[in-house]
Amino acid sequence: MAATRTLRIGLIPGDGIGREVIPAGRRVLEALPLSTKLQFTFVDLDAGFDTFKRTGTALPDKTVETLNKECDGALFGAVSSPTVKTAGYSSPIVALRKRLSLYANVRPVKTVAAARSPVDLVIVRENTEDLYVKEERTMETAHGRVAEAIKRISERASLNIARVAGDLALRRQRVRDTGAPSIHKRPLVTITHKSNVLSQTDGLFREAARKALADAKFQAVSVEEQIVDSMVYKLFRQPADYDVIVAPNLYGDILSDGAAALVGSLGLVPSANVGDGFAIGEPCHGSAPDIEGRGIANPIATLRSAALMLEFLGEEEAAAKIYAAVDANLVEGRLLSPDMGGTATTEAVVEDVLKRL
Ligand code: ATP
Ligand code: MG
Repeated sequence: MAATRTLRIGLIPGDGIGREVIPAGRRVLEALPLSTKLQFTFVDLDAGFDTFKRTGTALPDKTVETLNKECDGALFGAVSSPTVKTAGYSSPIVALRKRLSLYANVRPVKTVAAARSPVDLVIVRENTEDLYVKEERTMETAHGRVAEAIKRISERASLNIARVAGDLALRRQRVRDTGAPSIHKRPLVTITHKSNVLSQTDGLFREAARKALADAKFQAVSVEEQIVDSMVYKLFRQPADYDVIVAPNLYGDILSDGAAALVGSLGLVPSANVGDGFAIGEPCHGSAPDIEGRGIANPIATLRSAALMLEFLGEEEAAAKIYAAVDANLVEGRLLSPDMGGTATTEAVVEDVLKRL
């Protein structure tokens, strides 16, 4: 029998409903059945706009250092961004991705039970480059101002992200092979790009992704390509056709918000920021100032993010237990939060999931 493993998890609630959903994530980790042989210790960490207003920085060095030196993973809630440009403020999650080399952003989007249009896909987005290198400039010309931005694609990052996608496709297949119900039969990775127009940048992404996925390790994985505009069309028409989608940073960003719309509420969709041996679970929603402090935020995106973090820390079995408890709550549909058409509080949803664990 495997020995008990203790994981130290950084908790970064951030702003708004982040402070309501991150404690829910902690409770569900603490309640994992003993059979998973997992124990947790937690450390509370600051980041976000409130932190910025208090201390002058949105991401204190102490937060980064503690994550780096002490933690195995983390849960990140949400941060609100100032509505007007505020000198000195920049997004802490973007900075964290850079400083901890979290090069992959993974976002599963899934319906449960008998949805009219079933969805069970994951978007794997490159998290470090593309237009997000933020090298922009504006020039004064004889015809007025012209602005331009660098779109940087490296072979290394593209190979890496495609391997993450391939590994994920194999892992999802392993779960199906255990008899878990699924709309998919075989692992499939869809590479998204626009290399018909951007033959060098997206061309390199495409070529590198193809190369990575041609490895013998991924022999069982079918690989196809989709130009990003037709990808959007097909994703909305036939979401059931997709298993794992891999994309450069910007297309991945857009596709993943779009895909979240397929399942009804932002409050359901998790994500993870993944690097080598480290993962930060992060619900896809923001700080939701319109419902902050009312105790009605849907905690499910965070609970699924905690499970996703565990998956990337090698604890697939524990993750599966959380997913199953959450799915059971949704399938029964008795205790749903208001965004799902129910009347349950955050607390009531968490209690129901805990009971099912
Ligand atoms: P931010 O600037 O922090 O992103 P926002 O105003 O864009 O804040 P989001 O958090 O992105 O708000 O949410 C968009 C909408 O979805 C809001 O109406 C919000 O109430 C709702 N929403 C988001 N997350 C949840 C959740 N977990 N439970 C219930 N409703 C949610
Ligand atoms: Mg938002």
